[in-house]
Amino acid sequence: MKTLWGVDLGGTKIEGVVMNANTNEVLLRKRIPTEAVKGYEHIISQIARLIDMIKEETKLSPVAVGFSTPGALDPSTQTMKNCNTTCMNGQRMKEDIERAIGVPIEIANDANCFALAEATMGIVKDVVPDAKVVFGIILGTGVGGGVVINGQVLNGRHGIGGEWGHNVLEDDGYECYCGKRGCNETVFSGPSLQRYYEKLSGKTLTMKEIYQNFKEGNDPHATATVKYLTKSFGKAISYITNVIDPDAIVVGGGVGNIDEVYTEGPEELKNYIFNSRVVETPFLKPKLGDSAGVFGAAELVRGY
Ligand SMILES: [Zn+2]
Repeated sequence: MKTLWGVDLGGTKIEGVVMNANTNEVLLRKRIPTEAVKGYEHIISQIARLIDMIKEETKLSPVAVGFSTPGALDPSTQTMKNCNTTCMNGQRMKEDIERAIGVPIEIANDANCFALAEATMGIVKDVVPDAKVVFGIILGTGVGGGVVINGQVLNGRHGIGGEWGHNVLEDDGYECYCGKRGCNETVFSGPSLQRYYEKLSGKTLTMKEIYQNFKEGNDPHATATVKYLTKSFGKAISYITNVIDPDAIVVGGGVGNIDEVYTEGPEELKNYIFNSRVVETPFLKPKLGDSAGVFGAAELVRGY
């Protein structure tokens, strides 16, 4: 039996999966803590430990393993960058993991793995089975994105393919941790929308509470915040649509629970793209939930 092995490397947990490559049936899932505070070397040894545990339990061995990680592997320097688990940055992680587990690995960032999983095994597969180009978005505490073309992640020359969260949308916007100003992430991530609401109302609410007020219809600041989200989001998506015109867009993350993203978002998009017809791009809610990372990681090594 041909199997796919994937690992979702997170800041708090490392999760592994083994799937039947023909049926995508999950044979085993297992997770252990990352214990990132103990440092980079410890993370590598935890990964090796997890792979050994899975081998032991399944009596199977991988020919390659896919990894979903925060940040990205820079193709030129072969080192990690942009990871929020900061001890990984600057490390030759691909090489180090390959040495530790003894097989080749593929690495893609978590938003790319999300997009890949939803495109090949998730909602896009169900709803738009002939989709060739898929754009996956995570709208949460941060804003991430990934482009999948014919079932392959587009990593790009610098390893930043799909990093739409850091497209500049507002020239005079808020400073972003990336060093620029007015990135998509500073406009419509969850915390940025909460800040927007707070500025209007003087009140600090969670995104859930803001959306609840919006639905009840008696808080004009909540209405303005949701309008700001859909308007900015539609405009930001127009830059993607005018370049790669995806066959489907999948939106995950906490802010993705706001229904207007899928209804008003496409309406706003219409105002900004080079197209006079209605917007046909389906905006889809993801199907795989927290499993997208680990399934996308496994999908990375299907070609081995
Ligand atoms: Zn930024």
